Amino acid sequence: MNPKSGSQVVFTSVSGYPRVGALRELKFSTEKYFKKEISAAALQETAKAIRKSGWQCQKNSGIDFIPSNDFSFYDNMLDTAVLFNIIPKRYSGLALPPLDTYFAMARGYQGKKGDVKALAMKKWFNTNYHYMVPEMDDETGVKLAGAKPFDEYKEAKELGIQTKPVITGAFTLLKLLRYTGKKTAADYVKDIAGVYSELLTRFNKLGAEWIQFDEPYLVQDLTEQDMALFERLYETILPAKNHVKILLQTYFGDIRDAYRKIISLDFDGIGLDFIEGKQTLDLVNRNGFTQDKLLFAGVVNGKNIWRNHYGKTLSLLSELKNKGINTVIGTSCSLLHVPYTLKNENKLSGEYLKHFAFAEEKLTELAELKMLAGAGEYHNADTFKTNTALFQNRTNCYDQSVRERVSKINEKIFTRLPAFAEREIIQKKTFKLPLFPTTTIGSFPQTADVKSNRNAFKNKQINEEQYIVFNRRKIAECVALQEKIGLDVLVHGEFERNDMVEYFGEQLNGYLFTEKAWVQSYGTRCVKPPIIWGDVSRSQPMTVKWSVYAQTLTSKPMKGMLTGPVTILNWSFPREDISVKESTYQIALAIRDEVLDLEKNGIKIIQVDEAALREKLPLRKSDWNSEYLDWAIPAFRLVHSGVKAETQIHTHMCYSEFTDIIPAIDNMDADVITFEASRSDLQILNSLKENNFKTEVGPGVYDIHSPRVPTVPEIKTALNKMLEKINPEKLWVNPDCGLKTRGVAETTESLKNLVQAAKEQRHQQIK
Ligand code: GLN
Ligand code: ZN
Repeated sequence: MNPKSGSQVVFTSVSGYPRVGALRELKFSTEKYFKKEISAAALQETAKAIRKSGWQCQKNSGIDFIPSNDFSFYDNMLDTAVLFNIIPKRYSGLALPPLDTYFAMARGYQGKKGDVKALAMKKWFNTNYHYMVPEMDDETGVKLAGAKPFDEYKEAKELGIQTKPVITGAFTLLKLLRYTGKKTAADYVKDIAGVYSELLTRFNKLGAEWIQFDEPYLVQDLTEQDMALFERLYETILPAKNHVKILLQTYFGDIRDAYRKIISLDFDGIGLDFIEGKQTLDLVNRNGFTQDKLLFAGVVNGKNIWRNHYGKTLSLLSELKNKGINTVIGTSCSLLHVPYTLKNENKLSGEYLKHFAFAEEKLTELAELKMLAGAGEYHNADTFKTNTALFQNRTNCYDQSVRERVSKINEKIFTRLPAFAEREIIQKKTFKLPLFPTTTIGSFPQTADVKSNRNAFKNKQINEEQYIVFNRRKIAECVALQEKIGLDVLVHGEFERNDMVEYFGEQLNGYLFTEKAWVQSYGTRCVKPPIIWGDVSRSQPMTVKWSVYAQTLTSKPMKGMLTGPVTILNWSFPREDISVKESTYQIALAIRDEVLDLEKNGIKIIQVDEAALREKLPLRKSDWNSEYLDWAIPAFRLVHSGVKAETQIHTHMCYSEFTDIIPAIDNMDADVITFEASRSDLQILNSLKENNFKTEVGPGVYDIHSPRVPTVPEIKTALNKMLEKINPEKLWVNPDCGLKTRGVAETTESLKNLVQAAKEQRHQQIK
């Protein structure tokens, strides 16, 4: 794997492999360990077996560069922090065994030795994976304190497999750390570069050939200081490499700000993302590439589940070859973001499955691409022909009527009339709600009986009528409870829903569901995103009967409850044969039909949740509008622009990290937005005021992620803070997210206090 320059031998590389186990074995073992049902040794055994099978699978597929240390019990960023002793005192002070200190950082610890919360968790760039944010304080003594990468390298070697250890790069680590003291990234350059150098020395001794430093931070907008930091770090690290070759791996975009600098440095390989990196090829074309380095070309998508288009990939590879570049065929990012294998999918027919490649199948793709690329003339090869055929005849995914409907969308349909200011007056008259109206976000506790009712129906143990009778009883109880508590705008409780996207996906045409296609979201949590197979449409109303029934039980307004098109798209595996914009518009039209049906059936307030709108914001600010907001916001408007002036449209968002896109949020043109604010110290209020936010707002008054019952004075304090920035006429009072994960008792108490606080605040205001 050390080609002479100009030899142009083709290799294959995987940047990282899934690690939770094909049947989520690691998840189940870890959770047992948490409950003290198995020992640490037993957990280690599960981990070892998962690593072994991943390596062997890659080896058997003929992968040349196989990663190690991509395994993690919880998260790789956390692993790196622990490796370098970046462990806040509150955790090391617990004096627990190392594995338990690690889990204490990941999940918090409550027990004989103390009571500490977990480190913060953040979304990993533009994925649905979350990493733990390590903390550095002025006392942190950075040193090489762990052995995980070395142990795993040795473990693979003992199995006869030479691996390429993967470590979070020094730059990305320093950029993503939280600094709790006075020192900042620049103050740690020497220490951090020192431990990375030491790491290289150790790997030299062990006989490692290549090391992969993951530097995804490079795909973001970088400042001059950022680049200076990068250079300073690698000025020290690179001279320590000795016999070990270094692959600088980037992913999730292109490295336009750093490309020229990076090819001039002494890296042996550079990993570039040709899938999400829109400018990657252009960068290579304009600036060239050096013959003494390997280009690890990320051409097999690590984030989506469709088969690779060999024709396109091979022509890209031959373009690189023609430039004399020594290329390694690789994944665009770690395969952590796709499910394990198609082998466990028994319900979907082969006609569908042949279009997909999960992690294991992507290994075959890499190997086939290597063979085809090496062969020179590949057009007559069977593997090539089979692949090409897949893209020529995809069946039952096109729906002409949906296509036509989308093509007929004209500008006018994006504008709801009359304008907000006029609607606000009309709606105040229609609903006659008190000042500071109270409401909830939609779901009520999903108690065991609610879940077992759904499961029993799904497994055909009860018939549809029994299922409906049960849910109606739940709805009736929920409505009665809300009336008793004294809330102003009620909800039906969402007892029929397992998940806010799956529920709609299951009823929409064009969606496919898998059985075992789990993807890690954080720690032991996995999600199973549905697949958008074809054109999306709605054949019949999806929520109307529940909402209408709920409305018959009360004279207060009952909110219809829907998930918005951007969230439905963002939490699914999207199509690659049409644009995400077109797919989202198709979904938007289906939800629009549902909105209009709810309205027609007497539902006067309709909430369209866009919980995940913020999270797919492009990594580079310069792309925010053109790549995303320019269609995401119109897609939402498309959903509700057809309703009457007196119908009130609500929306809800989970993370209030949208301070920087406030104007875009206002532009969604909803009548009311509720969002999560209680955990962010209400910072967002300032920017609402600065931006003269027009939409009425309900910044959640308490945190539903904790079982704690907020007191009346606490809620009033929050309200008073809000009233410093928000016009009282526009303020709503609500929890900060759905209540489905909470218990009944704490929910009832919390909501009672919420209503009481709103009432007291009203009296004060009127006085
Ligand atoms: N209406 C949904 C609920 O209450 C919203 C969920 C969410 O924001 N994640 O559960
Ligand atoms: Zn939410």
